[in-house]
Amino acid sequence: MITDNLIAGNPSGIGAETIKAVDPAKRTQTSELFKCATEDELNTAVQEAYNAWLTYKNLSGSKKAQFLRTIADEIEALGDTLVQRVMIESGLPEGRVVGERGRTCGQLRLFAELLEEGSWVEARVDEAMPDRTPLPRVDIRKMLQSTGPVAVFAASNFPLAFSTAGGDTASALAAGSPVIVKAHSSHLGTNALVAEAITKAVKKCGLPGGVFSSVQGSGRTVGKKLVKHPLIKAVGFTGSYTGGMALVKAANERKEPIPVYAEMGSINPVFVLNQKIKTEGKAIAAQIAGSVNLGAGQFCTNPGLTIVEKGEGLKEFMEALTEEFAKLDAATMLNETIHSAYVNGKKECVDQAEVSLLFDAESNDDSWKGRPGIAQVSAKDFIKNNTLHQEVFGPFTLLVVCENKEELNEVTRALEGQLTGSILGTEDDLNNNPTLIENLSQRVGRLIFNGVPTGVEVCHAMHHGGPFPSTSNGMYTSVGTDAIKRFVRPLSFQNAPQSILPDALKDGNPLNIWRKVNGLTTKE
Ligand code: NAP
Repeated sequence: MITDNLIAGNPSGIGAETIKAVDPAKRTQTSELFKCATEDELNTAVQEAYNAWLTYKNLSGSKKAQFLRTIADEIEALGDTLVQRVMIESGLPEGRVVGERGRTCGQLRLFAELLEEGSWVEARVDEAMPDRTPLPRVDIRKMLQSTGPVAVFAASNFPLAFSTAGGDTASALAAGSPVIVKAHSSHLGTNALVAEAITKAVKKCGLPGGVFSSVQGSGRTVGKKLVKHPLIKAVGFTGSYTGGMALVKAANERKEPIPVYAEMGSINPVFVLNQKIKTEGKAIAAQIAGSVNLGAGQFCTNPGLTIVEKGEGLKEFMEALTEEFAKLDAATMLNETIHSAYVNGKKECVDQAEVSLLFDAESNDDSWKGRPGIAQVSAKDFIKNNTLHQEVFGPFTLLVVCENKEELNEVTRALEGQLTGSILGTEDDLNNNPTLIENLSQRVGRLIFNGVPTGVEVCHAMHHGGPFPSTSNGMYTSVGTDAIKRFVRPLSFQNAPQSILPDALKDGNPLNIWRKVNGLTTKE
């Protein structure tokens, strides 16, 4: 395994500072010493990324698709070595890791299909009308183009799917933007293996080395310097609100501010309506408990709030929920910081005078296991206490009990921006609660009916990006093919000769893609 930084295809470890990875199940450091990047190494990585960008951004969709598929093949070729390393560094079970590898390779291949199909560039052609009166029209054509090199911060909670070759990297490379990954210190070995796989793919596809680099070190030094570098043009991030906002601030302090697409957390309210509780309460209790505890609750879509209205069957539903929580197994959390943040966050919530504990599996053992918990509060008390609105990252949910429908609506009005909002209800329940649906739709990026928020499909219609503060820019998604739009901008060409125009905008449509020509969608 390469423990140096990987700068434009070459291992580089000129600095003295090193860091180690940690095995959270054993609570011990692993043996390797990973070199932190120096300022010179960062500058080389970014300069090489810029040099590579000048040719990479203009490559055909099929050539970039071949590159993305080769990355997926190289990741799969790592076989069990990669799976075992992820398990050691994350504490995640084998099934989850294998599934996440499938998702990672799947999204690389989905972007490859998008590039081959080609119409994602949104080509528009408005031909010249020299005879138009009173004024002639000039020839104007427009398409989306890469904005330049992108810095990607690997996420702790998805060592593969939101990290080195994860969704941010895949969408940036698809857009034509070289990537520099800042490895997450929780999974340095995983990052090294995947970075090597990407580097092999760069070489196999004959691309310039600067298309991909991976750097190691602290976010506050290495990460911030990367964001501040004038040749970096966008940032992809998944993590805490504090970390995300620190990067947004750094990006805005630049002479040329750049966008930071930070996905920062969410409490993902789940509303369970009256008739549904009455008719399917027990099954729903099991469904919610399973969703809360999935992956030790370390998902951005973890349901941190469960909201119900008083009515027939509520008592039995709450009993069932408590019983289901008592059945859950605790799993090792990703690292010590995340574990202690969970224990403290849960305690802070439960310690509020108006909150009562329904179940908590917390124990005094010194493992880093995330022990499931559930507590209860009235809607009135929830609304006025902002501490209860904060994300508790782990297997915990707060049950908010409303006296009536009006309180349900007041709870939705008190919520900040969320990645998701879920409503479990019969058809009558849904038809009886239009205000709830309207209020929730104003505050979330994905509205879910009769389902739980965990499980984010990677597809064309997915929007994984809610209003602030769940993300720094709710206009964009970090999951699914539209994630590519974060790393491109429109460029219009006025009166450009055919020899200068990109193929996507040329007469005769040589790429045979869907375009809007004089207002009509066509392949002509
Ligand atoms: P994090 O602390 O935000 O770290 C994510 C990345 O950002 C790391 O590479 C980190 O560098 C860097 N970073 C953090 N603070 C920074 C700063 N002030 N300036 C520059 N870079 C900075 O997130 P985490 O380590 O993944 O987990 C910590 C907490 O974040 C969790 O307990 C949870 O509350 C939250 N979280 C939420 C989600 C979600 O999707 N909602 C996902 C993951 C985590 P270092 O390597 O130096 O730390």
